[in-house]
Amino acid sequence: MKKIIAGNWKMFKDPEQTRAFFKSWKSQAMNLSNEVVFFPPTLCLEAAAQELKGTAVRWGCQNAYFQAQGAFTGENSPQVVKAMGGHYILLGHSERRQFFSETDEIIAKKAQFAQSLDLVAMVCIGETLQERDQNKTNSVLKSQLASCLAFKPVASKLVIAYEPVWAIGTGRVAQPEQVAEAHALIKSVLESLGLSGVSVLYGGSVKADNCVTLAGLPGVDGFLVGGASLEVESFLPIASVKFTN
Ligand code: PEP
Repeated sequence: MKKIIAGNWKMFKDPEQTRAFFKSWKSQAMNLSNEVVFFPPTLCLEAAAQELKGTAVRWGCQNAYFQAQGAFTGENSPQVVKAMGGHYILLGHSERRQFFSETDEIIAKKAQFAQSLDLVAMVCIGETLQERDQNKTNSVLKSQLASCLAFKPVASKLVIAYEPVWAIGTGRVAQPEQVAEAHALIKSVLESLGLSGVSVLYGGSVKADNCVTLAGLPGVDGFLVGGASLEVESFLPIASVKFTN
């Protein structure tokens, strides 16, 4: 299974800071065995594309629409992402669901359109703290998978990121058994959909000091990292982790 370490920069950094980061990254972090993917803010993608051209480092957009062009003020065209050299679209992040009212149905449409352009759709799913406390984690994950993947995705162009909402940006990482249990469930749903080759990443307060334990858990094929991906020093140990599962 492909091992992928992705950095989600959210709405941090400007183009100049983006260039400085990648110049430093290229001097320290080439030839990693894991695939490394960055999701800079949209306004920094041109800088990222220029700095990463000709390297094995992948990049993508944090959100893109389900049309190539048109009267959709404020949206990002996945076709332009593709033309600029991007490989990924991040979809369904809990912040998009929470602050921008993204539904599973919209996420499915965006994922399907991204795949039609040969882009990899990295689809985020995960339960809130309230849902976990009410023992609804499994049903929430199953329902999100069923709805977000209702379009019959291409396995080779799909990545799932399991991100318990209560662990994102909180410093509160999920317990190893919680991660292993959720990943086992996700893998079994993917298998039932004929998508067994799909990598499943964990996201939620992944740091240098917990990534080794997480990388040993069954079913964990990589990480989606927020805060710790913003500095080379904090992201490099995570991007270099060896998966022992
Ligand atoms: C994220 O943004 O997807 C994320 C997991 O953030 P953090 O690593 O900061 O918890």
